[in-house]
Amino acid sequence: MNSAIRRNHYRGGAGGRQKAALARLHSAGGAKSRRTASLPRAGARSRPLQGTLSRMRHIIPISGKDSLATALLQTARDPALPYEYVFCDTGTELPETYDWLKRVQEVTGFQIQRVGRSLEALIQHYDILPSHGRRFCTKEAKIQPLEKFYGKTGCMVYYGLRADENRVGVRPSDLWTPVYPLVDMGIDLRGVWVILNRKDLLPPSYFWPSLYYRVLELMGSRAHLIEELEQWEQRMLFAGRTRSNCYFCFYQRVYEFAWLAETHPDLFAKLCWFERFGTRRRRPDSQIFTWNARFFADDKIGNERRRIVDTRARQVIQTINNRFNRGLFDDPCDTEIALTSCGLLCGK
Ligand code: SF4
Repeated sequence: MNSAIRRNHYRGGAGGRQKAALARLHSAGGAKSRRTASLPRAGARSRPLQGTLSRMRHIIPISGKDSLATALLQTARDPALPYEYVFCDTGTELPETYDWLKRVQEVTGFQIQRVGRSLEALIQHYDILPSHGRRFCTKEAKIQPLEKFYGKTGCMVYYGLRADENRVGVRPSDLWTPVYPLVDMGIDLRGVWVILNRKDLLPPSYFWPSLYYRVLELMGSRAHLIEELEQWEQRMLFAGRTRSNCYFCFYQRVYEFAWLAETHPDLFAKLCWFERFGTRRRRPDSQIFTWNARFFADDKIGNERRRIVDTRARQVIQTINNRFNRGLFDDPCDTEIALTSCGLLCGK
């Protein structure tokens, strides 16, 4: 698999491949289904290749909806392989994520191993908040523990990159080979929702009542359009969070901070504490860092919550209007509402 994965490359025939993959998920074994270039069909494999594959480690990191869809599809299309499921736990995920993981284990029977380092401890160790320019969080709390878990014997790692995403995958190494089952099978965002919905394993909705009721209010007589949206569209539009991930993630948008303040005031208070005090223990006179370079969260959110909800409500209404005027959700990844992740191991 070439690591330079580009959206256009996978455009052709994605719908047909996606249907076939969804059918495979619900067929017994799926041995007659179309396979990918990454893993040849079980029936077509030579004995040495089959033996090699079954002796290798096959690791599926699970962190969100795309990676769970990957785990479900990959396990269905090649059930004989000895998969290991793993979750990078930084200790700073939202409570909804931990509840969802528990449910995933119960429903699927996957034994999901935990690796990772405490991110709060790392922040205090370095005396600095992670940011776009200093992303030690992903590197040290997730990637390094995961690479240690991969070991040095060689393995295949199945990542949750979707066919409709315009992003580069993971660089292959001598020790592991990245595989992208969703890309191989042409599964896009809509396909992921279908897969998880059928298994009743949709990720947390992060439903935000303040946003929902403000949208209803502002839409007035057009509010009935909301009922005409698909369930997954409603979930994405009225979420106070576009991704799971660390409660303080600096990739959050302003409205996501506002949702956190309203829904998890304890976590929001902790986030504010880290801004004011958490990084100045060893160097009290050093610069104060904030999660968002433009503001302290408590100042911004405390003073402007109403305006923030209004701004988000208008974005949502714009998306709904576009949806009915132009069928925008035919390509939901073109909207910022559909953004889902800050990295292949963060909330995927
Ligand atoms: S979710 Fe955000 S804060 Fe957490 S590891 Fe990923 S990039 Fe860093």
